[in-house]
Amino acid sequence: MKKSYLWSFIALTGLTNAIEPQQPLRQQKITQNEPTNLTQIITSSPLLTFHKNIVEIPSISGNEKSVGEYIINFLASQNFTVEKQLVTPATETEKERFNVYAYVGENRFPDVLLTSHIDTVPPFIEYSLHAPSTDFNREDLIIAGRGTVDAKASVAAIVFAALETLHENPSASLGLLFDVGEEKSGIGMKFFSDSELNPDPASYKAIIFGEPTELKLVAGHKGTMGFKIIAKGKAAHSGYPELGKSAISAILPVLQYVDNLQNIHPEEGGLLRSEKFNASTLNIGVISGGQAASVVPALLRGGDGSVVVDFGDLGGAPPQYLDADVEGFEVITVNYGTDVPSLVIRGEKKVKRYLYGPGTIHVAHGDDEAITVGELERAVEGYKRLINAAL
Ligand SMILES: [Zn+2]
Repeated sequence: MKKSYLWSFIALTGLTNAIEPQQPLRQQKITQNEPTNLTQIITSSPLLTFHKNIVEIPSISGNEKSVGEYIINFLASQNFTVEKQLVTPATETEKERFNVYAYVGENRFPDVLLTSHIDTVPPFIEYSLHAPSTDFNREDLIIAGRGTVDAKASVAAIVFAALETLHENPSASLGLLFDVGEEKSGIGMKFFSDSELNPDPASYKAIIFGEPTELKLVAGHKGTMGFKIIAKGKAAHSGYPELGKSAISAILPVLQYVDNLQNIHPEEGGLLRSEKFNASTLNIGVISGGQAASVVPALLRGGDGSVVVDFGDLGGAPPQYLDADVEGFEVITVNYGTDVPSLVIRGEKKVKRYLYGPGTIHVAHGDDEAITVGELERAVEGYKRLINAAL
């Protein structure tokens, strides 16, 4: 049974505390790059400060509680009604996990939902600022650290796009969902999807998902499918391999064959291709098996007989076809999975789904995860254009 827990506060601070939209001075030249000056660029901008604050709170999947609480307090201070949707309660060893759901006043089922995730992949990497050269434009300042791109850049830009939209159009029907666990199991979005906040038929007109897309509008992403290849042999002394049957020897040609399937045309037995998504992408991510160098390996991931493929319980999702009908965006497709398939749209009504965000996936899970000031600020404008088109 799934419940949602209402945090019953409406901000007491009044509209005067709401953040005013501001025109950033992008082309401002920075001629000195002492750390204080770099920091000033961040502290003089509410958007960049909010982004810094959420990046500085570690939130590796499973440990999202502190950053979730920070975002709840921030949204409440900006006059949002905020609900804390408990996904898993605290246990002796684990902290509670919750999605953050926010809207204006009592408009609990808004027309446009903006969403991204607040968990990151490990390890935590400290927030840091880097001048790209000794003499640079403000917008080229580099912000590095875990989550600066994936997906706290989207979270920050979404929040400020919503605030600026509401400043210009206070009756805009907007909601925000920041979910947990996207990087590991998708537990947060799946929980939201099954909850009363995602009714049948769907109440939303449009859902805007935030992920690093280099400020391009994503017309779709590939589906995913995981499987295991299992080989079993017979153990023997390595000095007398003819007395056994090596599972590793059995699986090697199979792995080489599978590894090359993405390069073979489907008509010749390779993996599927489509005009929209091009060739399939395949990765052999984990190999395990064998006991010792002196033993002919009997087992590679269990199984029986020779080499079999197990489509078991590794999960998967079909390809996602998304909307890209808003003028002024470059349109692309991407190879990575997102929360999109986890949010099930119910009923007959067409709900538009957009996928857009700042930063590039190419650094998203790496040691060099980083974004520029300009990308973050342009994303606010991009989200505002998507919101206005969707409204
Ligand atoms: Zn992500």
